[in-house]
Amino acid sequence: VKIGIDAGGTLIKIAYVENEAIHYRSFRSQAIDDAIQWINGCFENPDICVTGGKSQVLAEKLNMSAKTVIEFDATTQGIIYLANRQGQVLASNFLFVNIGTGTSMHYVRNSRQERVGGSGIGGGTLLGLAHLTTGIQDYEELVRTANEGHRENVDLKVKDIFEGAVAPISGELTASNFGKLEAMVKQPPSNPDILAAIIGFVGEVIVTISSQMAGQYDAESIVYVGSSFRSNPLLQEIIEKYAGMIGKTPVFLDYGEYCGAVGALLSL
Ligand code: ATP
Ligand code: MG
Repeated sequence: VKIGIDAGGTLIKIAYVENEAIHYRSFRSQAIDDAIQWINGCFENPDICVTGGKSQVLAEKLNMSAKTVIEFDATTQGIIYLANRQGQVLASNFLFVNIGTGTSMHYVRNSRQERVGGSGIGGGTLLGLAHLTTGIQDYEELVRTANEGHRENVDLKVKDIFEGAVAPISGELTASNFGKLEAMVKQPPSNPDILAAIIGFVGEVIVTISSQMAGQYDAESIVYVGSSFRSNPLLQEIIEKYAGMIGKTPVFLDYGEYCGAVGALLSL
């Protein structure tokens, strides 16, 4: 059996081939011992390749030898493979944006990547700000709750400033994330509203930066991956909507959060 592992700051992603199909599994990085136990219990003499920031920690704990590959290269190969598999045509030059704990941006040309930027605003920001503002710590609860929220109770749009007058840019653009202070003072927003606004904040910042990167590198499309999209249709919607207004058409991949693990698997 072949196993590819992407051990990230928050989640350990595993992709393995069994009966000619790829299977997926993930664990919290905090629960690294559970992941090791699962691997040891399920597979006999597997070929393993690890990648990601915690790959060394994981490789040392495995009681078998493992290959390691560079995370950014593995992610690139995984993206190309997953896109192909779902019939998604990627140009020979594209940008990919990995919204993990933090966010990393890469320009790919002829299957080779170059890291072109990043941001500390990512999935960890979602978890951290959600905890600080609502006390919610559970990821699934966070995204579920956010889906019931209304960002317009928290975020100030351009049209709110222009109050019906003709604006020089789309009135639907966010003028100020969390900027609807007067309204919030009068009527404090609910937890769902706050969480929806946090997801909006993360999504819009990332779309803004990555659209500029795509322009600078003349990339044809932007592929968004990372576990921050897991059970989180709101983040994808916000990115689709905002990209539609200011940037290039975004591409999302099935199992996109496993692209690093798939890339590691492919290198075996
Ligand atoms: P990095 O690549 O930055 O080292 P990572 O690879 O661990 O980190 P991802 O797994 O791509 O990052 O994404 C982590 C993010 O995914 C979290 O910050 C959170 O927003 C979201 N997430 C999805 N599912 C969970 C979960 N079960 N528990 C915690 N966070 C989750
Ligand atoms: Mg990662």
